[in-house]
Order: sequence, then structure tokens, then C-alpha cells
Amino acid sequence: MSHINVVVAGASGKMGSEALQMIDYQPDLTLVGCVDINHTGKKVSDIEGLPNSDVLFYDDINLCFEEVSADVLIDLTNPKAGYKHTKAAILHGVRPVVGTTGFSSEQIKELTELAKEKQIGGIIAPNFAMGAVLMMQFSKWAAKFFPDVEIIEKHHDQKVDAPSGTAIKTAELIQENRPTKKQGHPEEEEFISGARGAEFDGMRIHSVRLPGLVAHQEVTFAGPGENLTIKHDSFHRESFMSGIKFAIDHVINMTELIYGLEHLMLD
Ligand code: NAP
Repeated sequence: MSHINVVVAGASGKMGSEALQMIDYQPDLTLVGCVDINHTGKKVSDIEGLPNSDVLFYDDINLCFEEVSADVLIDLTNPKAGYKHTKAAILHGVRPVVGTTGFSSEQIKELTELAKEKQIGGIIAPNFAMGAVLMMQFSKWAAKFFPDVEIIEKHHDQKVDAPSGTAIKTAELIQENRPTKKQGHPEEEEFISGARGAEFDGMRIHSVRLPGLVAHQEVTFAGPGENLTIKHDSFHRESFMSGIKFAIDHVINMTELIYGLEHLMLD
């Protein structure tokens, strides 16, 4: 497909507005509709900080899909709306590219089966920063040789969940290559609760929340006399956009819904 028509849900949010800028810069992408709860009937250009465009805002995604010709939906909203939007997209033959986090495994399974039945390509990815995906994969590899590891993730202080989805995913990938091992001194004692961080299969995850941060993670492995740190920083929400564009280019030719950007990057 040489030209791709895109609808963005959550278009006036922090990630959604970044997606509108990305689409504006890409000659092969055209924005054809925006979905958000607050700006129904307004044009994109009516909202401060958004690109100069006459494309309209809808609050009803089904109406949006009926009125515009869309190839791809980018969803950057919240788990409840994102699930509803992804399902609507598949039923309308529109390929979903979903960055919204917090879907349950049952929801992912249901959406995957629906997409398979309808032969619609799509992706749900909790992290679209390509560097972060590589950081997770490198960590999985390193765990084969260094079973002693601690994860430190750092995010802005508006983040409500801890540890981050990326930290949990990293720990799960490490677990695939690391025998269960309780780290630290067998008799270690916390004088202040939480001092050693969260425990996952014997390894520790530490969450830092500070204003000014975006999304950062370091995974430190250690062996006798050596230390290996794998580190990734998202300094700006722009860091997620190259992965979203990469995913759009792939889902156009797919007939299934996948979970995780790594499945496209490892091919
Ligand atoms: P945000 O600024 O709060 O944006 C969410 C947007 O969705 C807002 O414009 C919100 O409108 C809108 N919205 C809420 N309910 C809606 C509904 N029912 N229908 C349509 N639109 C609705 O949040 P954000 O920081 O952009 O993050 C959005 C999502 O992306 C979150 O799930 C976040 O965890 C995820 N995220 C993913 C990645 C990744 O790489 N996959 C990276 C960063 C963030 P109002 O403002 O009017 O409520």
C-alpha cells in the first residue's frame, strides 16, 4: 500500500499529539480522523499545539470509521477505551496499532482471536521505543551468562503503576534464560521496608519516580570481578514514534494481531 490513511484515538493526549506530529512529517501517512472524548466536531487546528489540519475530532469511533476511509488506527488512550477502539477497528477492517498499556491477558487473547477470524493485521505493544525493545532482548541474552541481576527503572512522577510494564516484561524475559535464584545474602534484612526493591523470581526491581524524567531503565548484571549494565533512556515521547511508524508499515501486510514490537524487530 503506497498511501496509508490513519485515525488517531487519544489524539489530544501527550502521546497522541506526538503521533499527529509524526504523521504530519511522513509523506506516506495521511491523518483522516481523530477520536477523543473532549473535542467532538472540532478541527485538529482548533486545538493549541496540534498540527494545522482540517481533520475532525469524533467521540464515537464507530461513527468515525463509518465517515472516513481508514487503513490504520493508532490508539493511545487508556485500557478501557483502547480495548473498545481496538475491537471496533478489527470489526471495521482497520488495522490497530495500539500503544495503550494495561490490557489484561484475556483481552489480548480475545482481540488476537478476533483479528485472526477477520484476517486483520495489527499490533499491541507496551513499548514502541525500538531502543527499549533491544535493551530487553540484550538483557534476556545476558541472563544466560550472568544470573545475578538487578533492574532499576525511572519514570516521571505522574506514573501511577510500579514497577513499569517494561521492567516486568524485562524480568519475564530474563526469567526465560535464568534459573530461579534468590540473590543477596541469605540472611539479609531490610531495616526500612522496600529497601531492597520488589522481588521477582529472586531478582530485584527498583522503581524511581521523579519530576522531569520520561522513561529510563538500566539492567545491571554482575559476575566475579565484572559488571555489565544495559541502559536505555527515552528523553522525549518522540522516542516512541519511530516504532509506531515501523509497526504501521508492517501491519499493512499482516493478517494477524501480535503482542510486542520485538516480534517485528527479530524477523
Ligand atoms: P494522556 O495524555 O492521558 O492521553 C490519553 C488521551 O486519551 C487523552 O487525550 C484522553 O482524553 C483520551 N481518552 C480518554 N478516554 C477516552 C475515550 N473513551 N475515548 C477517546 N479518547 C479518550 O496519556 P498519554 O501519556 O498520552 O498515554 C496514553 C497511553 O499510552 C497510556 O496507556 C500510556 O501508558 C501509553 N504509553 C505507551 C507507550 C508505548 O510505547 N507503548 C509509551 C508511553 C505511553 P482526556 O484528556 O480528555 O481524558
